[in-house]
Amino acid sequence: MAATQRILDFLATRRPSGPCLVVDLDVVRDNYRAFEKALPDSRIYYAVKANPAPEILRLLAAMGSSFDTASVAEVEMAMDAGAPADRISFGNTIKKERDILRAYELGIRLFAVDCVEEVEKVARAAPGASVFCRVLTDGAGAEWPLSRKFGCVPAMAVDVLRHAKALGLDAYGVSFHVGSQQTDLTAWDRALGDAQRVFAALAEEGIVLRMVNMGGGFPTRYLKDVPAAQAYGQAIFDALRKHFGNRIPETIVEPGRGMVGNAGVIKSEVVLIAKKADNDNVRWVYLDIGKFGGLAETMDEAIRYPIVTARDADEKSPCVLAGPTCDSADVMYEKTPYPLPLSLTIGDEVLIEGTGAYTTTYSAVAFNGFEPLRSYVI
Ligand SMILES: *Cc1c(COP(=O)(O)O)cnc(C)c1O
Repeated sequence: MAATQRILDFLATRRPSGPCLVVDLDVVRDNYRAFEKALPDSRIYYAVKANPAPEILRLLAAMGSSFDTASVAEVEMAMDAGAPADRISFGNTIKKERDILRAYELGIRLFAVDCVEEVEKVARAAPGASVFCRVLTDGAGAEWPLSRKFGCVPAMAVDVLRHAKALGLDAYGVSFHVGSQQTDLTAWDRALGDAQRVFAALAEEGIVLRMVNMGGGFPTRYLKDVPAAQAYGQAIFDALRKHFGNRIPETIVEPGRGMVGNAGVIKSEVVLIAKKADNDNVRWVYLDIGKFGGLAETMDEAIRYPIVTARDADEKSPCVLAGPTCDSADVMYEKTPYPLPLSLTIGDEVLIEGTGAYTTTYSAVAFNGFEPLRSYVI
């Protein structure tokens, strides 16, 4: 997604020095409306970790969004932005009991679990709260899979929710996350099939679940086209119909990347261009931002950002792209070199597009003395 005119004007007039992220709130607003339109029957819980800038949280809170949070600090950020406790979910399956208690004291009544051990913590610290159990997905089709770490197999989810009910909790529903930057529309269909089987197994015991949390995964455009929100909405609606017939439960979605990814652009500067041998045909281009300055999702070259320079009309050649720190892991694209203009020069500015999500939150505090990624929300 190209930089908006507002972002370009901001960079041209303010000329911030050093690498920085600029986020255009108009794009976030459009994204929120597109989700509302594509999934009119689902409640939207913005995944705060994607970008917790207060301006973004305030905008979304005012538009009626709910929030998916992972820590007490994120709960407080959402509340400070104006979200009431009943629009906040504590969606991390890995919580300290005292953090559950703190969230409960703040009024939070919705918690994620994926094992009986976590259910017991919630039952003690947040009596009577609603819980949903996360089921595993394989993450196939996602560029940034979240598989294995979170969720349990559907058969275990039945035990977890039965246990929740026995301990006086509200066994509310099932959640899943199909993997981030998911471009395979059938991923939701498979996960919804699993969710429905958990509903059916518990219904036989008289436990009636009411909600499916369909997580995030909605992609943003990097170099390749991705299906539009409308296509996701249709695929999800069709899958809900197929698996739940005319008894479609309440649904939640938790977009992070899809809400803010295309709203932000990072401005960076070329620090050095060099070769390792005279006859190398691949140049090394070092920027003033790398994996530790906010571009962590280039790990394993998973996310490939569009990079724009003022010389893009000139002939290009393959480059290894690296960050500025003294760590050899701080190389972003090497296995698949990045084509950049032969005329690119030390000191040139480059724009890294589609960087509104998972950049400021991933930037280290001061690795090698480089300051955390600055952000301007306009
Ligand atoms: C990170 C996360 C999200 C957001 O995922 P995206 O792929 O960025 O949309 C949603 N839900 C949960 C539980 C998460 O951990």
